[in-house]
Amino acid sequence: LGGSISRALQQMSNATIIDEKVLNDCLNEITRALLQADVQFKLVRDMQTNIKKIVNLDDLAAGHNKRRIIQQAIFNELCKMLDPGKPSFTPKKGKTSIVMFVGLQGSGKTTTCTKYAYYHQKKGWKPALVCADTFRAGAFDQLKQNATKAKIPFYGSYMESDPVKIAAEGVERFKKENCDLIIVDTSGRHKQEAALFEEMRQVSEATKPDLVIFVMDGSIGQAAFDQAQAFKKIVSVGAVIVTKMDGHAKGGGALSAVAATKSPVIFLGTGEHMDEFEVFDVKPFVSRLLGMGDWSGFMDKIHEVVPMDQQPELMQKLSEGHFTLRIMYEQFQNILKMGPMGQVLSMLPGFSAELMPKGHEKESQAKVKRYMTMMDSMTNEELDSTNPKLMNESRIMRIARGSGRQVRDVMEMLEEYKRLAKIWGKMKGLKIPKGGDMSAL
Ligand code: GDP
Ligand code: MG
Repeated sequence: LGGSISRALQQMSNATIIDEKVLNDCLNEITRALLQADVQFKLVRDMQTNIKKIVNLDDLAAGHNKRRIIQQAIFNELCKMLDPGKPSFTPKKGKTSIVMFVGLQGSGKTTTCTKYAYYHQKKGWKPALVCADTFRAGAFDQLKQNATKAKIPFYGSYMESDPVKIAAEGVERFKKENCDLIIVDTSGRHKQEAALFEEMRQVSEATKPDLVIFVMDGSIGQAAFDQAQAFKKIVSVGAVIVTKMDGHAKGGGALSAVAATKSPVIFLGTGEHMDEFEVFDVKPFVSRLLGMGDWSGFMDKIHEVVPMDQQPELMQKLSEGHFTLRIMYEQFQNILKMGPMGQVLSMLPGFSAELMPKGHEKESQAKVKRYMTMMDSMTNEELDSTNPKLMNESRIMRIARGSGRQVRDVMEMLEEYKRLAKIWGKMKGLKIPKGGDMSAL
């Protein structure tokens, strides 16, 4: 998605005369990209219509920064689509709230329940978990294990097969124990949907939740809308959590879930571990959806770890979009200086995943150092070149010999360079505002 949208915007900025055709071409391309990211067709069409209303062709023709205008319109429109207009019920510390989790099997409910409890526990709450999934064998064990790890009280049963009874009992018990956040995990099977929905209705009736959270796998695709709507019809869904955002999914389905439930997204799941859980923030989410990276996080990191006097220069280089081997070398230096790998550039999608996979920091550092040794054998011309054809066979052989490495090592390093250059290039021409607020563009 990111690629195509960047490309579409790029085409936009390259066009000298901006007219309706260019705008339409750009919108069509973005439409295709959003559909690929699992945004529902109807929503995409709505956005297209709105953008056409917002973007004033006369303004564009009058020579205002056309890319900025289009970019801002698209960004704002996507933000608006993620805002249902009213906040979800927010539990208050010290006051008993019951929160019920619903969603299909495998969507991440049990994992997310614990993350949600843990998140609040760290802030001084007294959460508790109730396992009302009697359908799946092992469901109680899974919750028990998670809860024990996080030292959160839990309730469930191996014997009782009535989820409604367990849910009611668990909620009663924890009310008495003065827990302020009673979380009810439910079952979610693939088949027997009518039975599932009836069960959800009954559990909801028995526990009277203050908030029902719909948990959605970020990669479910176009099915998101119907799924969310089906749950909304049975129980009063008031918030959405999108899981597995650490994978390939851009999470376009979140737009569908918001539209179908008229509820906001409140958290994102970003991994299997307890603390891989983020408060949902609409602007970085949309930036990511548009392939712009997590700007606010990225900018914060740059301010944090790049020496003050080098920041303007780095920004300048970023906006030019040229990524030379020397820039790569300098960035590697920055990365190594900071100690743990993957701090700065990991904020850019695609940059870190392969270069510095989580859990392999040592090997990654060794690899980066190896690359740098080879670059030490390069000439200034090679380091500063933006011509991809410059690195011919004889140069590669000379670098390999000079650094005591194999030709294939040099090739690998150059491949890595190409990959990073591509990502870097996406930032070309982007004016990066302070604080990463794209809407301020
Ligand atoms: P449930 O059937 O809805 O209760 O789903 P589970 O909580 O059992 O999760 C199903 C699978 O998804 C498990 O293997 C989880 O570890 C995994 N999972 C849940 N949330 C995330 C997430 O945010 N990222 C990743 N990578 N995996 C997740
Ligand atoms: Mg479960």
